[in-house]
Amino acid sequence: MPRALVLNASLEPLSVVPVERALVLVLRDRADVLATNGAMWRSETISMPSPSVVRLRRYVRIPYERRIPVNRRTVFQRDGHRCQYCGRQAENLDHVIPRSQGGEHSWLNIVAACRRCNTKKGGRTPAQAGLTLTRAPKMPRPDAWVTATTGGAVDPGWEPYVTA
Ligand SMILES: [Zn+2]
Repeated sequence: MPRALVLNASLEPLSVVPVERALVLVLRDRADVLATNGAMWRSETISMPSPSVVRLRRYVRIPYERRIPVNRRTVFQRDGHRCQYCGRQAENLDHVIPRSQGGEHSWLNIVAACRRCNTKKGGRTPAQAGLTLTRAPKMPRPDAWVTATTGGAVDPGWEPYVTA
């Protein structure tokens, strides 16, 4: 099913939705079409170009961390599928500060790790296990969720609007 990219009024990517939902925003005067996908969308009463990018007229505030889920796919993507302790192929997710020691399940406390480092570390902090992070875990780029939600695919028409 064709999908459309919804941009905030600030032009920041906000979500990826079925074309029908983007059309509803446009028809209710809540969004403007910035790009179309070349196809026509037709109902019994309306025929209009099918949007591929729409922009909301009013700015919507969204808590940052909620937009990009912290899971195996998104963390591996951020970390380039490399163990953040030794650089080998990552196989697991590792809580830097273990949950048993109060570590949170958040972007800043989760890294990709190989099985060996993950096992060696166990329920300890990197310092306790004699491991060193090659770099501190960061929040992903603001629009990394676009590729995360589409499985890596970015519609060519979206490219001017996303950096992912
Ligand atoms: Zn490793």
